[in-house]
Amino acid sequence: MTTNDKQQLTYFIADLHLAENRPDITACFLSFLENDAVHAEKLYVLGDLFEYWLGDDDDSPFVAQVANAFQALSTTGTEIYFIHGNRDFLIGKRFAKKAGITLLPEVTKITLYQQEYLILHGDTLCTLDVDYQQFRRKSRTWWWQAIIKSLPLFVRKKIANNYRQQSAQSKQMKSLDIMDVTPEEVIKVMSDYQVTQMIHGHTHRPNIHSLEVNQQPATRIVLGDWYEQGSWLAITPAEFKLLNKDL
Ligand code: MN
Repeated sequence: MTTNDKQQLTYFIADLHLAENRPDITACFLSFLENDAVHAEKLYVLGDLFEYWLGDDDDSPFVAQVANAFQALSTTGTEIYFIHGNRDFLIGKRFAKKAGITLLPEVTKITLYQQEYLILHGDTLCTLDVDYQQFRRKSRTWWWQAIIKSLPLFVRKKIANNYRQQSAQSKQMKSLDIMDVTPEEVIKVMSDYQVTQMIHGHTHRPNIHSLEVNQQPATRIVLGDWYEQGSWLAITPAEFKLLNKDL
């Protein structure tokens, strides 16, 4: 397949949480790239592609498999864009190059088929999760990242495991409301960027919401996670819809 055979079709995915201990998700993802995404002219990955990312120096066969699959898709002419999630925010230029993907800023305005969309991972919309937002601010500083990257890979693995255990415990204690987006924050961000359409993941609550921003009808599309099925959004000049496939 070459660029000329691509349809006027754009796909969005997020929250695959790829990990070596879930080969079923990886297989579904590889099949999605090969059989579905290959028809699209663009694929946007809106974060948490990986369950965790320790640094681009992780040269495991698992990481190579994912990078090669993206590279193969990109070679057919599908453009692939990536926005970091809260679990894989350390993905850098080295992996991007290996995978043939383009890294985008954490909040990006795009135009598709004459329509504007604001795209982001979605974690920044969950403003009531104060502990997380605090960690987020710290972990996005150059000094925090420099310290982490200077540690040997096995130490980073250990830290990631500890952090995951802690966050699994604290998530159970927080009410579900806290983990969803703050409606006022959604409106504020859409208003700041002057858009009426937003696409994000992170909350694992796939849905298409209607709302109002500055007295205008607006749409917020939430992508689904891949824990129990493959899940993506398709946009064409005529419509948008959430689709899925069995693991
Ligand atoms: Mn997330």
